[in-house]
Amino acid sequence: MDTVLEGIGATPLVRLDRLAKNHGLKCNLYGKAEYFSAGGSVKDRIAKRMVEEAEKDGRLIPGQSVVIEPTSGNTGIGLALVCALKGYPLIITLPEKMSLEKEVTLRALGAEIVRTPTEAPSEGEESNIGVAKRLQRTIPGGVILDQYSNPNNPLAHELTTAPEIIHAITSTPATPERPSTEKVDVLVAGAGTGGTITGLSKAIKETHNPDCIVVGVDPVGSLLAGPSEDKIGGYLVEGIGYDFIPGVLNYTHIDTWIKTTDDDSFPMARELIRTEGMLVGGSSGSAIAGALKYLKSEEGFEKFGNLEGKNVVIILPDSIRNYMSKDWFAQAIKSQGPGDMWALIQEGLEKT
Ligand code: PMP
Repeated sequence: MDTVLEGIGATPLVRLDRLAKNHGLKCNLYGKAEYFSAGGSVKDRIAKRMVEEAEKDGRLIPGQSVVIEPTSGNTGIGLALVCALKGYPLIITLPEKMSLEKEVTLRALGAEIVRTPTEAPSEGEESNIGVAKRLQRTIPGGVILDQYSNPNNPLAHELTTAPEIIHAITSTPATPERPSTEKVDVLVAGAGTGGTITGLSKAIKETHNPDCIVVGVDPVGSLLAGPSEDKIGGYLVEGIGYDFIPGVLNYTHIDTWIKTTDDDSFPMARELIRTEGMLVGGSSGSAIAGALKYLKSEEGFEKFGNLEGKNVVIILPDSIRNYMSKDWFAQAIKSQGPGDMWALIQEGLEKT
């Protein structure tokens, strides 16, 4: 590898057999483990592509441009990695809600951070988007690559994430022990900007399986799945859901939406960590919870019956290492000890 940028993407598609068994599912359940990417999330891919394309079309000029981006953190980390290598100064505007771990990683990579109020409406002046725009107006050479409207966001997934998934599924032949349609039958992904689900659904339906069912996952408190009576915001999961519809979110190939809550998501992230050893973050829990709700729903059942041999792919966007200081994670490890392991450790320590 010439640089760590070559370590972006090419993530493993991992069988989630224990989880499937625990939930009585006969399908092949797969998790696309994006935390294996160099910056630790699904958003590294778009960061790299947005920077490289902006360099090609002359919007970004080394030695002159300053990159500014509003993000929920992971796009920021991807950009910080790319900008560290290419020498661009980077300013990230980040809502207060987003974890300290993301801020620390951003700072380690040399980015400047401006925190903004979580409750500020996205379209207002005080939001991370509003503040980024204000900074761009005043900073010479300031460029917002704008993941919300930049076509290179969904394109990064259409051109890299999707082919990786399709290759992994089609090159795993069916066996008597492991029946498989050798196609992606169901794709499940949460949506923030919607770049991941837009790019993946386009590539999978247009080049691989037009009958694939694409399930979007959206938190209660977000508008992406459609207008809702629920209060906007108010949930703790990071990186998914918005109070506006980003330009890159294309609904054409999304078949259905499942709403999830924090109470669905965090226990599910914990379950995945415990049962499969996969160190995922909160929105991965949302995606798994959404997948299980869909597969067990009447709609899912009518479509797929007992699911035998069907390949269900779930996008796992980032790692628990982004969230270890969060209350929900502390609660999760406290309440899940195997027996009273903690007391045993304390006793052992006292005896030494
Ligand atoms: N989960 C996490 C943790 C994220 O950071 C993001 C990106 N905002 C997503 C899911 C959703 O990805 P996308 O923006 O492509 O919809």
